[in-house]
Amino acid sequence: MDLIVTHTGADFDALASLVAARKLYPSARIAFLGTQEENIKQFLRDFGTRLKITGSRGIEREKIKRLIVVETSSVSRLGPFKNFFQDTALEIHIYDHHPPEKDIPAKKFVYKEVGATTTILTDILRRKKIKLTSLEATLFILGIYEDTGSLSFPSTTLSDRKAIRFLIRQGANLGLVTKYLSFPLNHDQVTILKDLVHSLETHYFHGLRVYIAKAASPKYVGDIAVLAHSLREMENLDAIFILVKMEDRIQLVARSQTRALDVGKVTRILGGGGHTTAASASIKEKNLDKARMKLISAVQSSIKIGKPKSGTIQPKKERPVLSLMKKRLPFELLKFFRTLGLLGDEVHMRIFLVGGFVRDLLLGVKDLDIDLVIEGDGILFAHKLSRIMGGKLHVHKKFKTAVVSVPNFKIDIATARTEYYERPGALPTVIPQSSIRADLSRRDFTINALAIQLNRRHFGHLIDYYGGERDLRQGKIRVLHNFSFIEDPTRIFRAVRFSERYNFSISPETRDLIKRAVRLELFESLSPERVRQELVAILNEENPIKAIKRMAELNELAYIHPSIKYGRHLHNLLIRLSSEIKSHRRCFSSDLLALWLIYFMAITHNLTMAELGEVLQKFIFSKKERSKLFRSHKAVSRLFKVLQKASISPARIYTLLHPLSLEEIIFLLARTKSKFAKKNINIYFKKLRYVRVDTTGHDLIKRGLKPGPHFSKILQKLLLDKLNSHPRKSLRNL
Ligand code: ATP
Repeated sequence: MDLIVTHTGADFDALASLVAARKLYPSARIAFLGTQEENIKQFLRDFGTRLKITGSRGIEREKIKRLIVVETSSVSRLGPFKNFFQDTALEIHIYDHHPPEKDIPAKKFVYKEVGATTTILTDILRRKKIKLTSLEATLFILGIYEDTGSLSFPSTTLSDRKAIRFLIRQGANLGLVTKYLSFPLNHDQVTILKDLVHSLETHYFHGLRVYIAKAASPKYVGDIAVLAHSLREMENLDAIFILVKMEDRIQLVARSQTRALDVGKVTRILGGGGHTTAASASIKEKNLDKARMKLISAVQSSIKIGKPKSGTIQPKKERPVLSLMKKRLPFELLKFFRTLGLLGDEVHMRIFLVGGFVRDLLLGVKDLDIDLVIEGDGILFAHKLSRIMGGKLHVHKKFKTAVVSVPNFKIDIATARTEYYERPGALPTVIPQSSIRADLSRRDFTINALAIQLNRRHFGHLIDYYGGERDLRQGKIRVLHNFSFIEDPTRIFRAVRFSERYNFSISPETRDLIKRAVRLELFESLSPERVRQELVAILNEENPIKAIKRMAELNELAYIHPSIKYGRHLHNLLIRLSSEIKSHRRCFSSDLLALWLIYFMAITHNLTMAELGEVLQKFIFSKKERSKLFRSHKAVSRLFKVLQKASISPARIYTLLHPLSLEEIIFLLARTKSKFAKKNINIYFKKLRYVRVDTTGHDLIKRGLKPGPHFSKILQKLLLDKLNSHPRKSLRNL
């Protein structure tokens, strides 16, 4: 028997690919592993039987001779079919548009860099002239639209468009397509969603995992039920209740996935109604905490008592890495770390190295930024440290952080507050945990959530709760929990930065979460200052082109401006830019360049002046940066007209280029194809920019001239004469 499977938590692309693959393997059975997405569930309720989509029950492994995997190539995402791969006799075919994970031993692997897997399969069906029903064509469009943002994401290819055209001709029903596509949330909904995420509490009622979240909105916001869906989509839990205070009432929306908790019963107790799995209530109450208490007691009295499940606390993972530290760190630094540990012992505080330093140490990359987390009082520790080491101390009382600069090192010190587990998706709020654990649980990726203890008895012990060391080994960027990008969408940019810097891949689950977060358009509620910081960091990386491309694929560039498109034109410009930057650094190593600004000029160069104005207003740029960006945009065509003339005088070259920054001129170099313009810019870089006149204002006074504004004109004229006195030949041969 042939069996067709896809990953757990399927989206429309996965569902459509299952059905499309069965057109290629007509005798195959589909095994659908379920989904969290409400619109897909609704589609299956409406059409699942007609499309013969079945679950995965009753499948006998021995009977399966061939396994067709669609929309993933990762074994870990295949739920109960994970184990099938130990059977070497099984023939495996894969169809996927994600870069191959290579962990499935496939006989046939069809991979194409297109917007959706459904596109790959539609193309095969079209070429084989296999007829589709209108319903199949409709589902395939849903698959392609969902993964390409209705053909708007930069990852969309010509093949995706062609596939859509073909499917419309096959009779797809576009009315149905719009009915089932999910639409992004509006700004007010996003604001509420963020508050909900921050307030999420996990409760265990007789072993059922239930989320309760609350938020308040100053005005009425419609359709808050979709927020319950959005939250539930991201985490596998038994039930969720959201309480949103709007005007003088509190709206309650409840969703359940288990018969053990009838949310209709809960909401009826609170004056509302609904079904076992979906219900709501409008509670006459102004105080959210009181409403929460009422809700908790309503849940307690509605729950069917079953066998309790128990929440598991991950064991604390510790591993000595002292020998690695001895091998990779300078002796002086190791000695210094021992001093830090001893000082910690003295004041009875646990001291940890954290973040980028630990990550880079394990990777064997040099990193001089030392970040410490102190369980106790970071400021007190910093005072003691600066006293014994004689360094400079800066304290930030509000955040309980400090910076100590001692000869050769700068150390950032943070205090880990003693606290309770608050992270969404974790255990109930009543379980206290160690502060370092709470500190690490708030970090962005597993590879950044590692710590090394420095106290004497535990010196060199690596602390790894989230599998960061394994991910470093496997080259994976992975978030710690499913709400990570909602909690802080700047992490979407950070994921790209780290994955490109270390040549790591973003894990499939994390990639899906990014896609979902982008679809929710969470960027709109982000502080532009923080996004700007992350963008600057990405563009300042050694080779940012791949990262820019990756940002485009994840639709992140649209956040800078929706009109920015990553096409061949921009790609080629970036390549030229990178080579100009490299050669400039080789020839003029003492020039300081703001690399990010040059790449930013390139990314925004196709915008209209008004659009660039919008970008500059949205992000916080300094006055200088703003004028550089505007000038690089405006002046180009005028400058090129003059610069590409062979006969232009040195003084003219100087007057044109001198007002520009180095970044702007390098950008010009990358943009022009004119040999003469390049030559003239080169003359400026190598010679003209260094020319100075010997005469000063004092000399003019000595000659009997009265000082005044005309002095600068005279000095400028002298300079231009001197520039023009350079024999042209000597310049041309530079
Ligand atoms: P780099 O080598 O680029 O400096 P880094 O990891 O040191 O890398 P920083 O931006 O200095 O990066 O951040 C220091 C640490 O703080 C990170 O390792 C991470 O643990 C944490 N961190 C930074 N930004 C976030 C964020 N947005 N969300 C969660 N944790 C973050």
